Amino acid sequence: MSIPAFDLTRQYASFREEIDAAVSRVIESGRFILGEEVEALEEEIAAFCGAERAVAVASGTDALHLALRAVGVGPGDEVLVPAFTFVATAEVVAYCGAAPVFVDIDPETFSIDPDAASAAVTSRTKAVIPVHMFGHPAEMEELTALSKHHGLALVEDAAQAFGARYGGKVVGSFSDAGCFSFFPTKNLGAFGDGGMVVTDDGDLAERVRQLRVHGASKRYHHQMVGYNSRLDALQAAILRAKLPHLEAWNAARRAHAATYTAGLEKLPALVCPRELEGSQHVYHQYTIRTEGRDGLRDSLAEAGIGSAVYYPIPLPAQEAFGGEDYRIGGFPESERACQEVLSLPMFPELKEDEVAQVIEKIKEWSKESG
Ligand SMILES: *Cc1c(COP(=O)(O)O)cnc(C)c1O
Repeated sequence: MSIPAFDLTRQYASFREEIDAAVSRVIESGRFILGEEVEALEEEIAAFCGAERAVAVASGTDALHLALRAVGVGPGDEVLVPAFTFVATAEVVAYCGAAPVFVDIDPETFSIDPDAASAAVTSRTKAVIPVHMFGHPAEMEELTALSKHHGLALVEDAAQAFGARYGGKVVGSFSDAGCFSFFPTKNLGAFGDGGMVVTDDGDLAERVRQLRVHGASKRYHHQMVGYNSRLDALQAAILRAKLPHLEAWNAARRAHAATYTAGLEKLPALVCPRELEGSQHVYHQYTIRTEGRDGLRDSLAEAGIGSAVYYPIPLPAQEAFGGEDYRIGGFPESERACQEVLSLPMFPELKEDEVAQVIEKIKEWSKESG
């Protein structure tokens, strides 16, 4: 038996013709960077998100970076980011010459704790980046109020949450700029890197457009120093073929999650992910917590079951962010999450009997570890 943490080949096999047709269309067009395919994808994603504009870029990291530049983050500014997230959320702040200020998380959603964020605001704070961690929305009502109260820009890191909803509205559409990643394993994944900024602010969208093509609003007329951060047409065409399936794939993830929870929630010493009222989780990851995490991970590996620890070290404890001076206890909920989290196999094409086998194995482990 072997059950992978994720498997991208099953999805391709399920709609190979659509993908192959999209790829051929681009190759025959002879247009490979930006162009009509990318513009069409931007329109379709803006419509999906209920946003006025969408601007495609080369990765999710670039989406965050260019969005921060476009809201005016620069040297001397502070930006609030969760201590428990993928490194890109904080890296992009440093790219702008600003300082990431780490904030602890809410243990239930794994997203930035709005009260802790409020306590971290200073006169230099320019923006806050909530992350919709593992596909569960951050607490956008409190965070929107916080950003309004202090006059902060709000930039959503929705890399893990394409299609998640909060109060019925798709995440990425709650802030100045919502940022998505199309990294292959994300809920909407390309066959390479890609990203998107969605916004209702036409000026902000224009600034991102300019930044992604070397700071030019017209070819060879450069108003600012920008970047090369363009999405290519092949990725756009593949994403356009996938987008109509996204809701069904997210529904499949939710169904697997419900099966996992029904099978595991009664086990002692193990906590299943929860969906807060008014939120719709899209389970980019199905992440349980247990103090016996490392032992469980080993047992699963022995049985041929993939799992992963996202993430083992809080960002402020990473060397890149001055981690040598990190004092244990600085971000207790983030530290505890790093010790306890384990993400189980999760992708739409996972089979019911595979989910059942993972549950059985965890039950065995639970009995043995008493
Ligand atoms: C994947 C991810 C990113 C970065 O996206 P890339 O497309 O890999 O650059 C940023 N933030 C979070 C939370 C992510 O999971």
